[in-house]
Amino acid sequence: MATDSTPGPLHVDTVVVSAGRPGRAPGSSVNVPVELTSTYAADGAVNYARVGNPTWNAFESALGDLEGGSALVHASGMGAISAALSLVAPGGTVVAPDQTYNGTGDLLIAFEQAGGSVVRVHAGDTEGFVAALDGADLLWLESPTNPLMDVTDLETVLARSRELGVTSVVDNTLPTPLLSQPLGLGADVVVHSVTKYLSGHSDVVLGATVVADTERGRALGERLRRHRTLHGAIAGPLEVYLALRGLRTLSVRFERACANAAVLAERLAGHPAVARVRYPGSGAMLAIDVAGDAAAAERLCAATRVWLHSTSLGGVESQLERRRRHPSESAAVPESLVRLSVGIEHVDDLWSDLEQALEAV
Ligand code: PLP
Repeated sequence: MATDSTPGPLHVDTVVVSAGRPGRAPGSSVNVPVELTSTYAADGAVNYARVGNPTWNAFESALGDLEGGSALVHASGMGAISAALSLVAPGGTVVAPDQTYNGTGDLLIAFEQAGGSVVRVHAGDTEGFVAALDGADLLWLESPTNPLMDVTDLETVLARSRELGVTSVVDNTLPTPLLSQPLGLGADVVVHSVTKYLSGHSDVVLGATVVADTERGRALGERLRRHRTLHGAIAGPLEVYLALRGLRTLSVRFERACANAAVLAERLAGHPAVARVRYPGSGAMLAIDVAGDAAAAERLCAATRVWLHSTSLGGVESQLERRRRHPSESAAVPESLVRLSVGIEHVDDLWSDLEQALEAV
């Protein structure tokens, strides 16, 4: 769904607001409608709603513009990740960080159990990635990693991957396209949990894949589209409408959340109940190692009143969680690590709530 032509390239803050709108014919709607249909009259561009839907098209157009490629919306972030991992044949070799979002980690274990190989490299070990890529089929990256917040040199690792013809996928959920645009660094596929920052209000579960507008990207995009259609993990149009509505404010929400995170990272570093702050220097996520054991970290999470003790991240409301409460979380994550998804509330309220809750540690 093209936007009206405008002079010159737009700033990203403008793109989040304007991309994926209906055309400006007299009397036209400012928003795309929620198209609730399972099928279409024959002989049109799309014949069945598992294949396509106009509400999807609008969201996909907007996200594609933000990432600099062509997007597909999926039923969840995991749906998008599953589709992206289908790009490596069974028995192939994947290179990935030694700690990733735990759902991805579990899928990689399942891939190994089905006969594939996974070479795991520490996220910060650029040389390790470069060496591991020789002979690999697929590179998986996530930077910063969730929840250890380790950062990868995307530029160097993606350049090597491209040189070797290794298909590369970057989970861009945490930085969002506002902080990182991996397709521009040579990545083949970007995946998102749209559930998080892009929709931003903790009211939908959705995912997306984005490929570059190149011959190679389009070929991968066709495989991802076919996977979505045949495996059937498709998004409901109402959820996609909500995601697009949320996306319109991404720029202001994320700016506030990132500013809050920077302040909190500094204040937490000076607190005696905090042994370590893991903050990559940008973004709205951080993690702390509580000075104490798992029980102390759980007490912190139970004692907040403004922060919501919950899993997930990227909503307008601040959320925190001890990640090792999930049995599938990596053993590399300390038992006392609490992940903080910083929201858009007033930073002083967030800080005083954390301060009083840290008393419980
Ligand atoms: N990728 C990252 C970095 C995540 O944090 C998550 C969920 O927390 C996912 C993917 C999975 O997304 P979803 O929960 O939408 O399936």
